[in-house]
Amino acid sequence: MSNFTRGEFLKLATVLGAGAAASGCEGQLAGGAGGVEGSAPDLVLVNGRVYTVDDQVPRAEAFAVKGGRFLAVGTTDDVQAMAVRGTTVIDAEGMTVVPGFIDAHCHPSGVRDLYDVNLEQAKTIRDIKEALSRKAAETQPNYWVNGFMYDDTKITDESGQYRRVNRFDLDEAVPNHPVQISHRGGHIAWFNTKAFEMAGVRRDVADPPGGRFDRDANGELTGLVEERATRVFNGVGNRREITRADQQAGVRVISERMTASGLTSVHQTGGDTQSLLALQDAYHAGEMRFRMYFFPSGGSEAFAGMKAASIRTGFGDEWLRIGAVKYGADGSISGRTARMSQPYVGRPNDYGILTMTQQDINEAVEDARLHDFQIGIHANGDVTIDMCLTAYEQVLQRYPHPDPRYRLEHCTLINPDLVRRIAAIGAIPTPFWTYVYYHGEKWAEYGQERTRSMFAHRTFLDAGIRVPGASDYGPGPFQPLMAIQSMVTRKDWKGTVWGENQRVTVDEAIRIGTLHGAYASFEENLKGSITPGKLADFVILGEDPHDVDPDQIINIPVVRTVVGGRTMHPIEAV
Ligand SMILES: [Zn+2]
Repeated sequence: MSNFTRGEFLKLATVLGAGAAASGCEGQLAGGAGGVEGSAPDLVLVNGRVYTVDDQVPRAEAFAVKGGRFLAVGTTDDVQAMAVRGTTVIDAEGMTVVPGFIDAHCHPSGVRDLYDVNLEQAKTIRDIKEALSRKAAETQPNYWVNGFMYDDTKITDESGQYRRVNRFDLDEAVPNHPVQISHRGGHIAWFNTKAFEMAGVRRDVADPPGGRFDRDANGELTGLVEERATRVFNGVGNRREITRADQQAGVRVISERMTASGLTSVHQTGGDTQSLLALQDAYHAGEMRFRMYFFPSGGSEAFAGMKAASIRTGFGDEWLRIGAVKYGADGSISGRTARMSQPYVGRPNDYGILTMTQQDINEAVEDARLHDFQIGIHANGDVTIDMCLTAYEQVLQRYPHPDPRYRLEHCTLINPDLVRRIAAIGAIPTPFWTYVYYHGEKWAEYGQERTRSMFAHRTFLDAGIRVPGASDYGPGPFQPLMAIQSMVTRKDWKGTVWGENQRVTVDEAIRIGTLHGAYASFEENLKGSITPGKLADFVILGEDPHDVDPDQIINIPVVRTVVGGRTMHPIEAV
């Protein structure tokens, strides 16, 4: 089945030597020297179409794994010959194999998946009503029925018209419990009549500062409640108490879902002691299926405690490691509040919002530098990116660092000057990688011309910047195959192309989602490619994304996800 010449593969002996040395532990080295048993692989994969993302050996058919790391990469014949009794053999049957995908910016909480109604897959208002009604049937009186991940611009009614859900839809589905369904971007939610009654909210309610109750043409409440107005429901009715065990279970659930999509490592960009505790609990219980690079939030108890204990970026192990400190300096792209130098289309006085001053940013960066922390600042608009770069440049001039890898979280709207400065200080932008596809109906407010400079993976690659993949889940879906399609086609789910100048190739998209993700956490020598000595994180895909219609990449099945030589998806596999 091989299309490759033997010359494309490294000599197996060389590879074996490198693997044994890199796997590190003395017992293995001694065993390897002493006989075949000691150096025999735990697992081999054969008959694969392996894209290694290793420039030394870009393509292979097979590889061997020992002690959770790649031991050798080569031909099926050579690798098959290394197997002994007890070696697990995966026959890839010609399927595509790539390094495990890395999501360099997300908020992977799974607690809501356990107890609330996930509306991400809902297509119609009827889907939403049925799901809420099922949940209500198993919910005690007076307790809330909560839905989440609702996206108002993607749902149709019975006649196929796009429209928002309203209070009356929710009343039909759930008349006797309070209902809240939250938008996947946060900030806004919809409530039913029962919830309004329990909170004492009537049609003459006044809008609080920083909040709004939406009304129809007749002045009736529609059920949509925005920003701070949602606080009127705090303390109303009964809500399930989230325990430490629940938080741990949440990590289990979200790591199952994310590894099922092909992710093997994620960067959790922001969290406090509770989320770090949940990760540790799940890790030690053997329930955390992905590797985690955890960002304490700036200003959190967790970050203060780490600084006090001299814990810094990189502390931990290859499963759970402390990452950058995380700050946020402007609004959101999907919520259309990012701070830009030019106004939003149709809103001539709206340039978006800043949430930190230049002084705030300067102080945060200096604090991170003096405590040996990598820093990641949420900066979507060009104005905000400029402010962060100014702070990075000044602090690095005052306190030089050979390899800071300061991050610009999202770094959505760029210009040539910003790109030049990013490259000059070795900063890392983390643009959204599923947004072009998933949120396309929102890009008209930025305009076609501006999207040529947004989610600028092509521009970053051309400037020699190692841009990683980043979903920002929940606001963005985390599926890496959707991300590859999105970056390759620049086409949204309705078929409109946004910024085709930013298209990347399938190979570049895979590299963005693997090796560049590893670089963003200083782990490019540990993972991100199928290379002897690196962690054995890989994914088997049912079809080759190079071969299928680019508009169908999203539908390629993830057949198996392996982390450190252990199959994490499907769960029932070896
Ligand atoms: Zn985020």
